[in-house]
Amino acid sequence: MPKRPSLPDGPYRSQYRGRFAPSPTGPLHFGSLVAAVGSYLDARHHQGKWLVRIDDLDTPRTVGGAAADILATLESHGLHWDEQVIYQSQRTAEYERAFLQLQESGMMYPCACSRKEIADSALQRGNELVYSGSCRNGIAAGKTARSWRVRVDDAVITLDDLLQGMTTQDLASEIGDFVLLRADGLYAYQLAVVVDDAAQGITDVVRGADLLCSTPRQIYLQQLLGLKTPSYMHLPVAVNARGEKLSKQTLAKPVTRHSPVSTLFNALAFLRQYPPDELRSGTTEEMLDWAAANWKPERLSNCLHLPVST
Ligand code: GLU
Repeated sequence: MPKRPSLPDGPYRSQYRGRFAPSPTGPLHFGSLVAAVGSYLDARHHQGKWLVRIDDLDTPRTVGGAAADILATLESHGLHWDEQVIYQSQRTAEYERAFLQLQESGMMYPCACSRKEIADSALQRGNELVYSGSCRNGIAAGKTARSWRVRVDDAVITLDDLLQGMTTQDLASEIGDFVLLRADGLYAYQLAVVVDDAAQGITDVVRGADLLCSTPRQIYLQQLLGLKTPSYMHLPVAVNARGEKLSKQTLAKPVTRHSPVSTLFNALAFLRQYPPDELRSGTTEEMLDWAAANWKPERLSNCLHLPVST
């Protein structure tokens, strides 16, 4: 497992600041609870702070009441956060500041391409559509700007993930210039997450491996904005029997608040922490204290997804 870059291991890592950043598109399901538990345990194991941020920037996808429901579910599982919860929907001015900084540096350009034009001209690399750069040298006459993209030039980003090891992404051939201000006027997740992690002084990002391919874009933006890069640990994603990520779209069941001890036990088993059976008759606090003291994420090394029966 690679070493964490900036902080020594053990009790001295009290400057550790981790976070869980759910999108309030519905109630927590088992897969998102696993990410919450993993980031919580990593923070508590290092005597660090654990923050919660609600990623409600994508207002069209936000479901009313979901944020409150997620917070209540975390609390009922004993996952108590430090400091005030922040909401991306209230932080547009911060994203705008970073956006203007990039615009002034000449790294951004307006893009007039419609979804269809992008799909028609893009190269497909895995699940990503690589933007062809049609508007990089100016918008064609008669067209109007819809979104703003950042140039990736020849950036090749290498990430030493604490579980997944070394990943290298050539942004030009694997992603292309990417959108920071969307056609609907909203700032993109990639920009918001970078601004927020820096503003909250996050030293360690622990989240699902579905976000691993976004991380080089985030590191690139950190470099352009002169921000520190935290260390990253991408946990295996929980998949159903068909190999699909648990999500609202794949009809994953919401986590109930009625049996938090047993749900935590299952989350720890999923994370290969092998909780002792006696913990089943204890409290959420006892379960989490045991798990934080015995946290061994290296058991998940090189594991991008794991099946779960729900
Ligand atoms: N809000 C994102 C999600 O739920 C996670 C963002 C992050 O952890 O960086 O997928």
